[in-house]
Amino acid sequence: MGTVLVFAEQTNGKLKRSSIELLQAAAKSGNKVVAAVFGSHAGDVTAAAGQNGAAEVYTVKDGALDQYNPELFTANMVSVIENVKPSILLASASSTGKDLFPRVAARLGAGIASDCTELNISGDNVVATKPLYSGKCFAKTSFENCSLKIVLMRANQLPVAPADAGKSATVTDHAAAKPDLKTLIKEIVKGTSEKLDLTEANVIVSGGRGLKEAANFKVLNDLADVLGATVGASRAVVDAGWVSHGMQVGQTGKTVAPSLYIAVGISGAIQHLAGMSGSKVIVAINNDANAPIFQKATYGIVGDALEIVPKLTEEFKKALH
Ligand code: FAD
Repeated sequence: MGTVLVFAEQTNGKLKRSSIELLQAAAKSGNKVVAAVFGSHAGDVTAAAGQNGAAEVYTVKDGALDQYNPELFTANMVSVIENVKPSILLASASSTGKDLFPRVAARLGAGIASDCTELNISGDNVVATKPLYSGKCFAKTSFENCSLKIVLMRANQLPVAPADAGKSATVTDHAAAKPDLKTLIKEIVKGTSEKLDLTEANVIVSGGRGLKEAANFKVLNDLADVLGATVGASRAVVDAGWVSHGMQVGQTGKTVAPSLYIAVGISGAIQHLAGMSGSKVIVAINNDANAPIFQKATYGIVGDALEIVPKLTEEFKKALH
């Protein structure tokens, strides 16, 4: 039996769903699962980590780790890895994961596969599937000649079962590494949205140029509020300045894989599909029956988005509230 280390991300003392996916996948492999949690709230998630499959949780409870700093996180991650000595490390392909783990891999001479969508762990071996060329083909990645294999998984790719309240983890408080920093992150300015980040969202309502003007995003926001969804957008409307780049889905935006993706007034260009074709159910609303998005859609509605979306909002309101 080997050891799988999971870098568990948390927000204000709550484990992110993407980290729960990884803990449960690691536990299914039969290996010993150790979770690493950083920041002053690290102690708040040890119970949840245990209930989701961790046998041990390494907490590094330094307030300096509440905010991502590449050098500081790299030093602390390397320090935890040197203690735990895992053969496999799982982390989310989040903005933090994608910045941190190439640094860790370079420091330790580890192998790394990023942005993966499937995961198969068998003993000490791991095979991860990752999309290439904007999802036009998939590569199965295995590792050779490296004692540590790092896999960064996209969110919403692995199943999540209810936590097992009967399980718990032992907790090890690990002393924080305090390297001399060459960079200081003064402030990370968060977007104003209270909603879940697109990459974590289970339901997304996305708008494109078919909405005609920025003010019409209100109809999408209303629908999203009723569904508890996050609002996304095509690049055309981001470039037009209607919404911020953080909302862009696609090849040069975010890659998402929600249970439900509602594409409103979006044509379905290959670069947009590259970011959302992993969605489980796709609903397209477009007034052109020949729009390419309908070839990817599970369900399609042909018509004027500005008439259809408010009606959907009203119907969902009746059904859900
Ligand atoms: P359009 O293509 O103009 O489509 C608008 C759609 O709205 C049409 O299908 C139309 O039939 C429909 N419509 C019009 N009126 C209505 C109405 N009243 N009701 C309902 N439907 C209506 N794009 C991305 O989205 N994400 C990316 O990350 C991205 N990266 C790119 C990278 C590169 C290198 C390049 C070259 C392009 C990239 N693009 C990206 C741009 C992409 O090629 C498309 O131009 C863009 O996705 C189109 O956005 P759209 O569907 O909103 O607009």
